[in-house]
Amino acid sequence: MDSTIENKTITLLDQGYVELQEMMGNDLAIVNAARVSYLGESKGDESDEKLLNYLMKNKHTSPFEMVQFKFRIKCPLFVARQWQRHRTWHYMSVNEVSRRYTSEKIDFYMPEQWRLQHESSKQASEGVADTELQTFCQESLNEVVNHAVAVYNYMIDNGVAREQARMLLPQNIYTTFICSVDAHNLLHFLLLRRHQHAQYEIRVYADAIWSHFFKPLLPWTAIAAEKYLFSNELD
Ligand SMILES: Cc1cc2nc3c(=O)[nH]c(=O)nc-3n(C[C@H](O)[C@H](O)[C@H](O)COP(=O)(O)OP(=O)(O)OC[C@H]3O[C@@H](n4cnc5c(N)ncnc54)[C@H](O)[C@@H]3O)c2cc1C
Repeated sequence: MDSTIENKTITLLDQGYVELQEMMGNDLAIVNAARVSYLGESKGDESDEKLLNYLMKNKHTSPFEMVQFKFRIKCPLFVARQWQRHRTWHYMSVNEVSRRYTSEKIDFYMPEQWRLQHESSKQASEGVADTELQTFCQESLNEVVNHAVAVYNYMIDNGVAREQARMLLPQNIYTTFICSVDAHNLLHFLLLRRHQHAQYEIRVYADAIWSHFFKPLLPWTAIAAEKYLFSNELD
């Protein structure tokens, strides 16, 4: 069972990242948690992987909660809003960058491409804007951000409280937070947020967590999830 990774920080979008700060447990910890119910021990890779598949297939989910991940995330504010709807994650909100405490280091997400509104799905996009519209959107966002930052800085420099001045800053502002989650609830997040119904920007983060961290660190669980979890739900 190979479960090591070299790069613990993956850069995403234009200025975002996911950093794996800590991890506790591995595929074997899941198997051992299941076997504890009858005081069993590892019976070798083949038998252990078979048991793990059985657990995933039959939704015996609690052993998967034995594995914990802790991430530091830098993402646009609107992605953080979607992320934080997942109540089973632990958000160490004290570590989220708060514009009440700091007016330093303001970064904004500038998309590479502007997508068009999906015709039949109210919450989705499809295709991309033509060149003229791309340019208009890009230039307009630049203008809005530059103006917002200029007014924000003027307010701060003139003593306006940061907790109110931050109202000037648009939703594409980056925020950073630390969060932890167990493997069972991370799989649920990945199921929803890697899906094509999810917004592109959060999908980028979910895909990175899946391919750079989850798959290499929990290879048996990843294979079982592809077989029994991701393939059956959300048509
Ligand atoms: C494509 C997409 C579109 C979305 N659109 C919208 C939208 O338009 N508006 C909107 O408001 N939200 C929207 N959401 C957010 C969505 O409704 C969920 O809040 C979010 O996906 C978190 O899912 P969850 O509750 O299953 O996850 P978690 O909060 O991590 O919970 C995981 C599971 O634990 C159980 N659970 C957790 N807490 C409780 C509880 N208190 N009581 C009972 N069971 C609990 C549930 O079984 C739940 O599925 C959208 C999500 C997606 C993926």
